[in-house]
Amino acid sequence: MKRRVLVIGAGPAGLATATKLLELARDRLDVTLVHQGHHLGGKASSTRRSDGRFVEHGWHMVVGFYDRLRALLRRAGVNDRDVFVSMKGQSHPYEPWSRRLYTLDAGGDAIEFARRFATYEGLPGADRVNYSAFMSQVFLEAFSHADLTRHDDLCFDTFAIEHGLRPHLTKYSVFRFLREAYFNFPEQISAYHVLQSMRLMSSPKRAEAFVCVGPWSEVVWEPIARYFRALGGVLEPFTLATDWVWSGRRITGVRVARPDSAGHGDGTRAWGEEVTPAPGTERTLEGFDFVVSTIPHAVFVKMNRAEERMWRSPFFARLKNLRSAATVSMTLTTSKPVLANRPGPVFGFPAPLGIVVNMKPYWREYRDDPSVGSVLDFVGQEAGFEGWTDSQLASVTLDNFSRSPQVGDLRAAGVLDVELHRNRADAERLLLCEPGVNQFRPGARTPFENLFLAGDWVRNEVDLICMEGAVASGHAAAAEVVARLS
Ligand SMILES: Cc1cc2nc3c(=O)[nH]c(=O)nc-3n(C[C@H](O)[C@H](O)[C@H](O)COP(=O)(O)OP(=O)(O)OC[C@H]3O[C@@H](n4cnc5c(N)ncnc54)[C@H](O)[C@@H]3O)c2cc1C
Repeated sequence: MKRRVLVIGAGPAGLATATKLLELARDRLDVTLVHQGHHLGGKASSTRRSDGRFVEHGWHMVVGFYDRLRALLRRAGVNDRDVFVSMKGQSHPYEPWSRRLYTLDAGGDAIEFARRFATYEGLPGADRVNYSAFMSQVFLEAFSHADLTRHDDLCFDTFAIEHGLRPHLTKYSVFRFLREAYFNFPEQISAYHVLQSMRLMSSPKRAEAFVCVGPWSEVVWEPIARYFRALGGVLEPFTLATDWVWSGRRITGVRVARPDSAGHGDGTRAWGEEVTPAPGTERTLEGFDFVVSTIPHAVFVKMNRAEERMWRSPFFARLKNLRSAATVSMTLTTSKPVLANRPGPVFGFPAPLGIVVNMKPYWREYRDDPSVGSVLDFVGQEAGFEGWTDSQLASVTLDNFSRSPQVGDLRAAGVLDVELHRNRADAERLLLCEPGVNQFRPGARTPFENLFLAGDWVRNEVDLICMEGAVASGHAAAAEVVARLS
């Protein structure tokens, strides 16, 4: 008889777990995948607005080393080369001291790329030698076989200063980018996570950045869900998990409910709004042999909140030490072109929204639309700006970017539309990779013999808070389940 597996969450980790389980053991497993809304992809999802245009949850970059995500998409029958377009290896730091944008080009071989990065011209001449010497050391450490987790207790700035970087150099945008662009976080990042990202991007090919040609949910996650169904999987939307039901060391059921208002999960839900159970819709899902939770950390730690016995146990108590951050994203459409000749991210502007990409050349819905000059997709973090209104955030961002003559006056470019998302609900928050975080991140196993964890916040082969990390964690959780079948 087939064993039954319940996978909770249909973001990158949940979809990867559910498909991998069936790929490995469809003759021995029945797999049901439930999630709280109906948009697939979790934090990497997109929704359609009433005017037909889509919006993302903040732009999502695919990096050259995302082999697992690309392979999953190919297995689902989608040619990843048609879906992900390269940003041509370019990115453009803005350095406030000169009010100029520079260009970092990742072309060439690994040594040439490292040389160009280390001799970056956006620093005043007097600082270049020191920066270059430090960067050479960083590359050596990242590309060695050393255990990088030993740097987890340090923030990257301290690591840099301890390795000879003059402290004032940590303020330059090119340096801040190392810790901010990948992680999108307001605070100091563990040196381990920065070095790990460099290790994974160890060649221009593996460091190349791509964006998706269209709405992530439609172009990437729905084909994967169709593939999951074709393998025999069952997908149930509008199923919000609220509590574990357990006995001894086993999960015997999961309390679930429909999300509250009709708006939840249909794309009209306001960003930042918490999803809560609709009264009277609670029930218990039972009869599963295994459960894999891909619920985000900030939601997971609020389940069974009254059960002290569970939360005082060493495994669960440790999870309470992890924190997460709220991101902000904004899409601004202009009638005249802006940043037309700058493929890739432009970064280094002040918080809260310091990074932007012009998506007009990439998104197929906009590419050939003559009424749209640019589609600027900004991301950043909310910390420190919680009390600001949306229009204040938008206005200060327009002012900040307009400071650079190479960007130009954004208002004068004719603002057609502004859409701002404050991703502050628990399910929308990202794990904060602060110094010392790794000792508190769990692996796939839990004290419950039949409950496994996946998700970008769970330790995995990639270990960065990104889609590829989520997919890697899903594969690891699926392998744990399959290992228990014999
Ligand atoms: C603004 C922003 C920009 C980002 N940029 C990038 C980028 O450029 N590149 C990159 O690789 N990554 C990026 N990320 C990170 C990436 O989105 C995440 O790492 C990834 O989505 C994590 O996948 P996951 O499956 O672990 O979790 P999630 O994507 O959060 O998916 C969790 C799933 O669980 C469901 N769920 C939550 N709570 C419950 C519950 N109680 N019951 C049932 N279901 C539940 C959700 O609906 C969702 O389906 C970005 C994230 C944000 C917010």
